[in-house]
Amino acid sequence: MIRNLLIANRGEIAVRVARTARRLGIQVTAVYSDSDAQAMHVDYADAAVRIGPESAAESYLNIEAVIAAARESGADAIHPGYGFLSENARFAEACAEAGLVFVGPSAQAMRDMGDKAASKHVMEKAGVPLVPGYHGDDQTIETLSAAAIDIGFPVLIKASAGGGGRGMRIVERETDISEALDAARREAMGAFGDDRVLIEKYLTTPRHIEVQVFGDNHGNVVHLFERDCSLQRRYQKVIEEAPAPGMSQARRAEIGAAAVAAAKAIDYAGAGTVEFIVDATHDGANGPFYFMEMNTRLQVEHPVTEFVTGLDLVEWQIRVAEGDPLPLAQDEIVLNGHAIEARLYAEDPARDFLPAPGHVLAFEAPVGEATRVDTGIRTGDDIAVAYDPMIAKVIAHGADRDGAIAALDQVLADLVCVGPITNQAFLRRAITHPEFVAAHLDTGFISRHGDALLAEPPGGLEPALIAVSAKVLAERQVTALELSLIHISEPTRPRLIS
Ligand code: ADP
Ligand code: ADP
Ligand code: MG
Repeated sequence: MIRNLLIANRGEIAVRVARTARRLGIQVTAVYSDSDAQAMHVDYADAAVRIGPESAAESYLNIEAVIAAARESGADAIHPGYGFLSENARFAEACAEAGLVFVGPSAQAMRDMGDKAASKHVMEKAGVPLVPGYHGDDQTIETLSAAAIDIGFPVLIKASAGGGGRGMRIVERETDISEALDAARREAMGAFGDDRVLIEKYLTTPRHIEVQVFGDNHGNVVHLFERDCSLQRRYQKVIEEAPAPGMSQARRAEIGAAAVAAAKAIDYAGAGTVEFIVDATHDGANGPFYFMEMNTRLQVEHPVTEFVTGLDLVEWQIRVAEGDPLPLAQDEIVLNGHAIEARLYAEDPARDFLPAPGHVLAFEAPVGEATRVDTGIRTGDDIAVAYDPMIAKVIAHGADRDGAIAALDQVLADLVCVGPITNQAFLRRAITHPEFVAAHLDTGFISRHGDALLAEPPGGLEPALIAVSAKVLAERQVTALELSLIHISEPTRPRLIS
């Protein structure tokens, strides 16, 4: 049994993991960098340990400091959240060496999947379909160029060690290949300290559909259905939903089985996500699907799966880490309704989504039965430049997709975030766009509809926003300087759906 869980993370995910741990009667230890001493995730914990200065490399990525914090606080387990050390095999080993339970898969499973090229070799053996491409060890320009020509243009070059949407390059023509390979390898070396690349056929109308899997240490693996994460900007997810609109029952069973086979191939235990790319040109979500990569951790967008299955994935992670078998068998996991998540960021859509960190003068999230706002910030907090500028994940559940869209639009309308510039209005335009409502999705959606999504909206401020802004100004002695810094996020247009 885990008695004291150290959460090696910050922000919304640290708060979210703490909620479940506390509900299960587990003590929570937080860690924090100097700039997070007053952060919400620290308040949510029973104890908190400083692990270093603001720089993530010296704090949240510092394995020795995190392990020392666990010793100091008497923690017997570590949950890594996502990002930071969550996919670091050396960290999982360091936990084991220190006698701590790592709430995640084995170091070996992380190594098997941590490298995109290596993971493809494993999946090939397991019979999981791959995107046509080259992921061999021979990295000479001649071999790579020949492979690209063989695959047929356009192709996508990816860093084998890559992640977070970085280090990818589309090559349209044969004459560009050697220059693109050079540049991609330089980029990969700079970003990941590893210049190996792989080449894939570049799909021009793809959907990103991923499957949530769960394994235990008794040989059981199940899937918790799929998520469609096709609304992306620069290969980064913006809106995610479950289930994938338009996917047939037969295809759902097939892609779920492929994901389970992928997880079984590496004796996977814990929460994982098998990402597929679907060629949506002819059959939408039911087009051919190909394995892309596996993320060996809890995913940012796990709440949509929690809504449609009614399960708490962090609870499952903890139970599996404690050695329990999976709580449910495959046929006991039922899909109910539809859920959509939008990532609220401190960023300026009008300035190419430039991060816009700053002081939060007011943050008020509506509370509802079928809605959820996961956040790590409160009124008065600062969004630090040093970390990811995500403010909150806003999630809504409905009996069907239209219901989920309406509910999500309502939460986004009622949510108040005064201070930083955010993408709040952009998100509302995205989910109420007729093409989104019609579920005409692919990864090009945001760039294709950029003009409509960025358009200066008609109408004034939301009443809720005006009320809270007035309250903030009245309650606090707002200085002239602060006033000049207030940027009320661009007004949101009247609801299309309600
Ligand atoms: P998800 O599918 O869970 O959204 P992402 O690829 O967006 O996965 O990554 C989740 C978090 O981890 C993000 O905050 C992202 O910035 C971070 N992340 C993922 N991979 C890397 C990496 N290789 N280097 C740095 N940060 C990463
Ligand atoms: P990361 O580790 O950065 O998440 P992925 O391999 O998961 O890298 O790819 C990230 C995104 O890039 C996908 O969600 C998809 O939008 C796009 N992408 C990846 N592979 C292809 C491909 N072969 N064709 C078209 N788009 C792709
Ligand atoms: Mg990915």
